[in-house]
Order: sequence, then C-alpha cells, then structure tokens
Amino acid sequence: MMRSLPVVIAITGLCAFGAEAHAAKPGTSRAVAEGGQLPGSVTKGLSIAKKANDVRELQMTDAEEQELGRQVSAKIRTRYGVVQDAGAHKYVSLVGLAMAQSSTRPGLPWTFIVLDTDGVNAFAAPGGYIHVTKGLLALIKNEAELAGVLGHEIVHVTEKHTIRAIQKSQAVQMGAAETLSGNSALMQRAVTATYDNIVDRGFGRADENESDEKGVVLANKTGYAPSGLVAFLTTLKDRNKGSTEKRGLFASHPEMQERLDRITKQITAQKLNATATLQPRYAKNISFTPVDPTKIATVEAGAAGLTGGDAKPEEKKAEEPKKGRFGLSKMVPTGGGEKKQAQVTASGGARGVDPEKDSKGGPNPAPVVVKIAAADIAAFKKEGGLP
Ligand SMILES: [Zn+2]
Repeated sequence: MMRSLPVVIAITGLCAFGAEAHAAKPGTSRAVAEGGQLPGSVTKGLSIAKKANDVRELQMTDAEEQELGRQVSAKIRTRYGVVQDAGAHKYVSLVGLAMAQSSTRPGLPWTFIVLDTDGVNAFAAPGGYIHVTKGLLALIKNEAELAGVLGHEIVHVTEKHTIRAIQKSQAVQMGAAETLSGNSALMQRAVTATYDNIVDRGFGRADENESDEKGVVLANKTGYAPSGLVAFLTTLKDRNKGSTEKRGLFASHPEMQERLDRITKQITAQKLNATATLQPRYAKNISFTPVDPTKIATVEAGAAGLTGGDAKPEEKKAEEPKKGRFGLSKMVPTGGGEKKQAQVTASGGARGVDPEKDSKGGPNPAPVVVKIAAADIAAFKKEGGLP
C-alpha cells in the first residue's frame, strides 16, 4: 500500500533549527546520506559481526525511517480513524511541536494525530508520528499532563525504541545488499512488524523507563510542570482500579506505583521545577468526554483486517466476524444485518479484550492538515508563559 498521504502538519519556517530542519524531509539526499549513522547507544548490543555475511539486522536511513513511520501511521489511522477536528489537532500539535523543538531530534517532520476512539492510548511511530486518542485527551486535565504524555512518546521516537526492538527480535532481517527503500516487500514486512510492535506488543520496561525519565526532563525544559505525567498516570491508575489486567496505554509499563515513585524521586533529585499547567487553555481547546472502560465498544482483534499487513478497504468487507470468542449475549444486535456491527461488542470485560487497545475506531482515516509555522509555536509559548 504505497499510496501517498499528505503530511498532517506542514511545518514551515523552522530555519531557526538550522540545516537539520530541512534535512529531515523524506527523500532528500542529505537525509539519505546521514542515515545509517546510528548513535552509539543504538549500535551497542547489535551483533552484525557475528551474523552470516549475507543477513543483517534491519537497517535504515533517516529517510527510510520516515517512510516507514508514514506507512505505519497510515495503518494506525485506518484502524482507529482520525478526529476530523482542526482545532484539536492544532492545539495538540502546538504543544507537541513546542516540545519537539527542545528534543534531541528537532528536525524530524513531527506530526501529531488525534485518533477517533474512546480507548485511552498513545502510539509513537518512527520518524516523528505521534498519535493520541480522544479517549486519552478526555482523561487529561491540563496542558502539563498532555506535555507529560507527549514527552514520553517523543522520547520513544528520538531514542528509536521501536526500531531497536525490531532489530533485537530479528523479526525483520535483510540481505547485505538490500535497502528498505529499494524493496517494497521488505518495507511491507517492516511496516507490519512495526505496527504490531507499537499497537500490540508495546515496549520493554527499560525503554518505558527511559521515556518517562527523558520525557519528564523534556516537559520541564519546555516550561511545563514535570508532575504532569505523574498526575495523568495517577488518573490512569484510578481508572483501571477495578481491573486485574494491565490495559491499554502503558500496559507494558512497570508496575504503576513503582513507576510513579521513580518519576517523583527524579523530579526532586534533579530539581525539575517548571510550573506551567495551563488548565484553562487545555479546557478551551479540548472537550472530549471520557468513557468508562466497561462501556467502550470494542472490535475483535484482527477484525479490522489490519493485523496482516496491507489489507485494502474492500477486502475487509469479505471478512466474516469470528464466532465464539465473545459470548453471544455481548454481541451488539445486528439490526441492519451489517457484518461490521456484528464485530462490535460493548464487552469491556470480555476475556482477552483490552478496551483501551481494542476499542472501536472512527470511520475516517484522513489526516487533518493544519499548518503551523515557527512563529505560531513562538506565539503559543509566549501566550502560555513558557520560556
Ligand atoms: Zn511508552
């Protein structure tokens, strides 16, 4: 599925960040030339030398990383739909871009997408594609909490956690002479592996801790109270109080209390003392309503036809709902006889179903394009009293 999708956020005038701002555009020769220069922390632990000469770990240039992320993002948007609300997209993008400017990879074409689902979740795809659900935004109380979540996700991208996970698992390998951009079948395998890793498997504990730690520093550096992440995770902990399973966002994360303690200690030890919370501005821009996990409509895993790679929309129609996984009493009546409805159930408590991840998505995967210039980010920071 190589259809070309417009970039959601057209970042203009980011010259202040120097040449890197331009080098990040997919397909530019500079980005290609720079690719492959992985930081020491990335190459550490790889065992290329030990492998047979003709097979190597998944390797990619910066441009290939962005193409991979673009295709993974398209898959995530197709699965969950996109909230067709320019105001919400602009606001989340302004917070995200203000933070990304201070990250270690300010030149990526950072793109922030609001997914049309009640499940509470966030997904970071390689190359700078950050997705947050409207269910997550509904639960967040102020801009500092949003900054806490976005900071965490931004670090997953800047530290290349997903790419490293795929390299480590050897889920996708390539021949010595192969490149991602030169082999569309290989690219599709990488897209599928990356999507599964982000949506289904999640990150390891070490990566989650690193994202917490560096994300909190990033939020603080941008002027936001670093306790925003702590406050949001506490809300999440309360939300899942009744559940014995770890669900949705941060399902793979360390036990919550241990995690909260670690972040709180870090804030004190490193004297992270930025103070902006900006609750009124958040409330002015975001007005989604939270849905209790037990009331979230879910879709059977795989029913959306998206786990197997490049299913086209018309192929989905042919899929029959799988029987037996849910009790019939939990099936939504199929009044209109539409197959899609039969796949939807309001069974947040059903076995093996994670309402935050398996939540039903909206119908429209189209990106919402908002143009944000460097001057807009500067004005947004000034208005919020951010340094
Ligand atoms: Zn994470």
